[in-house]
Amino acid sequence: MSALAPGAVIGIIGGGQLGRMSAMAAARLGYRVHVFSPEADGPAAQVSAASTVADYADLTALRRFAGAVDVITFEFENLPADSLALLESLKPVRPGARILAISQDRLLEKAFLNEAGIPTAPYAPVHDEAGLDAAAAQLGLPAVLKTTRLGYDGKGQALLRAAEDLAPAFARLAPKPLVLEGFVTFAAEVSVMVARGVDGTVVSYDAVENRHKHHILDLTLAPAPLPAYLLAEAQDIARRVAEALELVGLLGVEMFVTADGRLLVNEIAPRPHNSGHWTMDACPCGQFEMHIRAVAGLPLPPATRHSDAVMKNLIGPEDMALWPRILATPGLIPHHYGKAEARPGRKMGHFNRLFPKGGLPGAFGIEDALRLED
Ligand code: AMP
Repeated sequence: MSALAPGAVIGIIGGGQLGRMSAMAAARLGYRVHVFSPEADGPAAQVSAASTVADYADLTALRRFAGAVDVITFEFENLPADSLALLESLKPVRPGARILAISQDRLLEKAFLNEAGIPTAPYAPVHDEAGLDAAAAQLGLPAVLKTTRLGYDGKGQALLRAAEDLAPAFARLAPKPLVLEGFVTFAAEVSVMVARGVDGTVVSYDAVENRHKHHILDLTLAPAPLPAYLLAEAQDIARRVAEALELVGLLGVEMFVTADGRLLVNEIAPRPHNSGHWTMDACPCGQFEMHIRAVAGLPLPPATRHSDAVMKNLIGPEDMALWPRILATPGLIPHHYGKAEARPGRKMGHFNRLFPKGGLPGAFGIEDALRLED
């Protein structure tokens, strides 16, 4: 398939904020977006030319959707295998089914990464309680027990500190397939957004630091305040992951920086990512435009950053109570996801604040830099 011409239709599976911001970027490039989501009037459908409201397992609806679009991509990638196979038989799907299968399964993901020479935390599969005992003996404690699939924001995992934590954690998470990971004592969590085009061009944004609150991303600092050699290595790892996967599209690579200065990949996500939202305002071509360019077969520009940035997530009713003050504070660039109800823990929006390059405030200046006006 050659590059999509303006007016072509990009199909997006999933209707949340990542789809919304992808659709807005697609519109700027002259494309129409058709969203497929079980939820009516969600964040993405509100800004798209067309939407299908149906279950991800509804093959009839998926067939009709594929007939109405020119290419298919994702903002939600946990599609049933049958649904994915059907879509791939009908239209180009970017990124493809193999990448989705790898990134959906923590065991496949780690095996793939290690095979490609990319370090992760040590791990062992856990099939039963005896297997958990053996894995804990092998990796030592503390360790983190995780479901292999459908975990996010710290859900579906348990920290095992001592032998007596094993049985209750197993009882809570089984019978789902599980993996035990060695506990990583990390100095920071970083991530890199990387894109690969149809022609094999790879571009990656600068590595950023992610700070979490209650297991949910709270702040992203761009670039990560870390030594230059680590930033370069993080980008190199992301590039190697994209190439090993033969990615066409956009991918987030989350990594731990260990206390002794090594990088270990924790997770990959083959789609736009919360930790890439800073690029919307600090880069001439942000992650959503880059995603759409890759999927549409357009050339990929360098992922240049013109400013430093801090991204602050707005979570649940407490943060949304600040919205009027955010709008009244000069220098903050607000992004609202159009969700009607601010339930606790729900990502409702974010704002970016830009700084001159090299001017990101130090650890103690961040709070000041994000102070809101009354
Ligand atoms: P995940 O769902 O894998 O992204 O994990 C959520 C959070 O749990 C991460 O952002 C880390 O803060 C923490 N975490 C996950 N895995 C480990 C590990 N092996 N060692 C230490 N902390 C971890």
